Amino acid sequence: MFKPQPVTKRFYDGLDEGRFVALKCTSCGHVHFPPLPTCGECGSFDLEWTEVSGSVTVTDAIDLNPALANSDFKPYAPYHIGEATLEEGPEINTIVLGLKEKDYEKIRSMMPMPGKLMTIQHDGFKTVAVQLDQTGEQ
Ligand SMILES: [Zn+2]
Repeated sequence: MFKPQPVTKRFYDGLDEGRFVALKCTSCGHVHFPPLPTCGECGSFDLEWTEVSGSVTVTDAIDLNPALANSDFKPYAPYHIGEATLEEGPEINTIVLGLKEKDYEKIRSMMPMPGKLMTIQHDGFKTVAVQLDQTGEQ
């Protein structure tokens, strides 16, 4: 029987501990990050907690209209809004860090590129961002 559990709390508690927790469907194997109480793929209630590696593939990063920029994120500038796919499968919309304006066109043309999940401070709590891995970059 379906038993509700505080998935949002556990997710943010994980971020506070520097861990990226997800729920994996035991029926179809789909990994949900951020976690969902029911599987969005097959509808199963049988999910188990897991921890994702933090390795991602950054598939896009776009310039943000400065008028839309959240002032909470100023300490992390320059940042971009982008998309990333976790090693375990989930696709997320995220803040992408580590992309300098002068390199923007070149780096964007090289995507998809590897990156790592990290946490940033937002409005009193930690949230997820992605650091672009540019090792090997000249
Ligand atoms: Zn499922």
